Amino acid sequence: MVVGDFAIELDTVVIGAGPGGYVAAIRAAQLGQKVAVIEREYIGGVCLNVGCIPSKALIAAGHHYQEALDSQMFGVNTDGVTLDFAKTQDWKDNGVVKKLTTGVSFLLKKNKVEVITGSAFFVDDHTLRVINGDSAQTYSFNNAIIATGSRPIEIKGFKFGGRILDSTGGLALKEVPKKFVIIGGGVIGAELGGAYANLGAEVTILEGSPQILPTFEKDMVKLVEDDFKKKGITVITKAMAKEAIDNGDSVTVKYEVDGKEQSVVADYVMVTVGRRPNTDDMGLEQAGVEIGERGLIPVDAQGRTNVKNIYAIGDIVPGAALAHKASYEAKIAAEAISGKKVAVDYKAMPAVAFTDPELATVGMTIAEAKEAGLNAKSYKFPLSGNGRAISLGKTEGFVRLVTTVEDNVIVGAQVAGVGASDMISELSLAVESGMNAEDIALTIHPHPSLGEIVMDTAELALGLPIHI
Ligand SMILES: Cc1cc2nc3c(=O)[nH]c(=O)nc-3n(C[C@H](O)[C@H](O)[C@H](O)COP(=O)(O)OP(=O)(O)OC[C@H]3O[C@@H](n4cnc5c(N)ncnc54)[C@H](O)[C@@H]3O)c2cc1C
Repeated sequence: MVVGDFAIELDTVVIGAGPGGYVAAIRAAQLGQKVAVIEREYIGGVCLNVGCIPSKALIAAGHHYQEALDSQMFGVNTDGVTLDFAKTQDWKDNGVVKKLTTGVSFLLKKNKVEVITGSAFFVDDHTLRVINGDSAQTYSFNNAIIATGSRPIEIKGFKFGGRILDSTGGLALKEVPKKFVIIGGGVIGAELGGAYANLGAEVTILEGSPQILPTFEKDMVKLVEDDFKKKGITVITKAMAKEAIDNGDSVTVKYEVDGKEQSVVADYVMVTVGRRPNTDDMGLEQAGVEIGERGLIPVDAQGRTNVKNIYAIGDIVPGAALAHKASYEAKIAAEAISGKKVAVDYKAMPAVAFTDPELATVGMTIAEAKEAGLNAKSYKFPLSGNGRAISLGKTEGFVRLVTTVEDNVIVGAQVAGVGASDMISELSLAVESGMNAEDIALTIHPHPSLGEIVMDTAELALGLPIHI
């Protein structure tokens, strides 16, 4: 309680209403707690407003446009196809994002979660101050779950504004740039680079390391690199971005390769080199919450920080910055606060790049399995051997299983190709529940479907492949 101020009492308070915060709030409310969620900007967080969802909407629009332009093979006459990008953006904002964020607000209300608008600052380990414009209110709480997410990293020489964009600016463009430079070929850069190329932009990606998409295996990345070549995307690796000069009607981007300075002129440059956790501007030190390396908050298996009534989840804790990780940790933390015996287990945490083709991975790669001392083998089945993939006209890619040699237990899987983001769920279940290749091979998969490739790969692992 703050002296001289009236504090409203709360039981469980969640800070941030992204896929971590809103899920934690709903789960805690379902388990009988009185919950309030504090949000300073937008219900649904980065994911729904300026991340996963709008990016996938633009990717989908790019696919529709390209398919409309390029469907002669299916006997479709494609004369006179044009793009109305203002309509694309309106559909993304109002037809997709607004629908989902309204839905989340409705779910919070239905679960009797109180939504408090404003920025939360810790006063101590049981008190928060929420500032909203000119007004401020103090709240006391029993338990807090911090889910404040992350923001784009700004690099030296690339101050955001005008034609120098972060991913949020990149998603909100009013026009498809004729020339678009992207700094950083990680998942966000590669996804948006592909989307804007599909929408008609001439894209250049400058990547500091020797390979784009460094979190995926080389044979998977090769498929995206091949697609980028087809799309006319220029990828310059080992390129160190130096400076962007906003010329008013264009931007000059200076970079260095092998110590030689080069430059490229574009309509816009977007910097997607990583994200920084929002842990520096909310008085965590006043609550005694320890902040670790790179601004991330160390937590235990229930999401508890070093202060026992304060939990942290999502992009502000170590591990991959992914929406489904945030939601998973949210449920664990909410259940732990509610007295359930739970703990996180990241064995089967999938990761997806929504590139062309999609890349998806779960569990261990073969290299990781060997490094962990497992006697493991990997089995790869191509999409070109699958009837559904052929009938879709999308045969690039493969499914790979990583299994133990002794008992064929599936310890990891990778999928590259159309539908990879959906196919990885069956494989996540397999890794999570310790299934072996026989379990998958004996599961009847519908025909003709992309899922059959998973069954075919399991049969390959058992030495009994029918379709290869
Ligand atoms: C372009 C882009 C595409 C992405 N695509 C994917 C994808 O396809 N799949 C995927 O899994 N992940 C994707 N991500 C990552 C994903 O968006 C994040 O991992 C996820 O949003 C993290 O959830 P969170 O709940 O931790 O935080 P956030 O979603 O960042 O939400 C945090 C919320 O807290 C609020 N907040 C912060 N500080 C305060 C404060 N002091 N007081 C009150 N409120 C506060 C913020 O306003 C925000 O609404 C993408 C990200 C970007 C940028």
